[in-house]
Amino acid sequence: MNTKAKKMALSLPRAGFEKALAAELTHKLGGEALLSRGKGWLAWQGDAGHEPFVFERQRIRHFSKAGRAELKPLSMELVGAIVKELQGRGGPWAMQAYALESDQPLDRKVEGMAAALLRAIKKEDVMTFKLFRKKAKPSLPLLQLVLAEEALFWGCELWGEMVDPAVGGQRRMKFDDQSPSRSYLKLEEVFVRMGKEPREGEQAVDLGAAPGGWSYSFLKRGCLVTSVDNGPMKIKGEYSGRLDHLRADGLRFEPEGCADWMVSDMLIAPGQALGLLRRWLKPGVVKNFVVTIKIPQEEIWVPLVAIEHYLQGLKGVDWEMRQLYHNRREVTVWGSVKNTI
Ligand code: SAM
Repeated sequence: MNTKAKKMALSLPRAGFEKALAAELTHKLGGEALLSRGKGWLAWQGDAGHEPFVFERQRIRHFSKAGRAELKPLSMELVGAIVKELQGRGGPWAMQAYALESDQPLDRKVEGMAAALLRAIKKEDVMTFKLFRKKAKPSLPLLQLVLAEEALFWGCELWGEMVDPAVGGQRRMKFDDQSPSRSYLKLEEVFVRMGKEPREGEQAVDLGAAPGGWSYSFLKRGCLVTSVDNGPMKIKGEYSGRLDHLRADGLRFEPEGCADWMVSDMLIAPGQALGLLRRWLKPGVVKNFVVTIKIPQEEIWVPLVAIEHYLQGLKGVDWEMRQLYHNRREVTVWGSVKNTI
């Protein structure tokens, strides 16, 4: 008999992708795992380790729920429960408060609620209040307050152990006006998540490059770029000598030597994206890769199963597949091939 207490976790996908996350969760943890879901959240139980789900932006590993009626004014029962949790942790703590329905990291309503909670904590237990730190550190317990349409979800865990350290797992990138497209933001987000970015003099192959946001991202860092697309490139500025535009089919592009980067934002079916990964993710072909997988209207999770399965079977490749903050109806696979020759 399994005597381990079952954990009740809350996962937050992008609004509109609850069904996709539910399918992924059920596939990975079994049909019993999913407990309930609402707009922007899914409650589940089971052991998913520390690995994030593809369609999950943020998670509360052990969550509690308070109805909207308990929020205005804050019920002393809720404040008492939060104080008890923080006292149990001992030492300094930090807080992230955000609303789901507004898609804003911290809208006014939540800001007001967080301030009211701090005042209530001060009244309830001044010591716990004094231990509040405005800035989180990986070693600090972090209280997450997530305001959904129908309830407030809250929970506490070490900031350094969260699925994503960013508020709500939302990594908003700053746009660069020189970029010819907003797709630029997706690639910039990947570089932040990878913890590395292209260096001057590196070679990049950009498949499905037009109008050129991703190519621009490499060019501005001093890379040499081969942009493959039948469409026109609209990059402003003078990069002659470092930008080579090939009007060709990116699926048939033959890699030569070992490129530092292969990136693809081609509008292709998931099966074709899998074929592309198979061709490129071999020793001596490429060092780093970023590929967006466009997902069809129906059965969002199903086409990704084969891709994830293929990636899991690879040796010598570090990879991640996630729906990024700047992804719409797509997910991104990125990573590095270790054993290049
Ligand atoms: N990443 C680009 C940027 O930052 O500006 C945007 C790419 S756009 C979303 C998709 C591009 O893929 C289109 O320009 C389209 O022409 C190109 N595309 C689709 N299928 C392709 C193929 N088989 N080979 C090359 N390009 C392709």
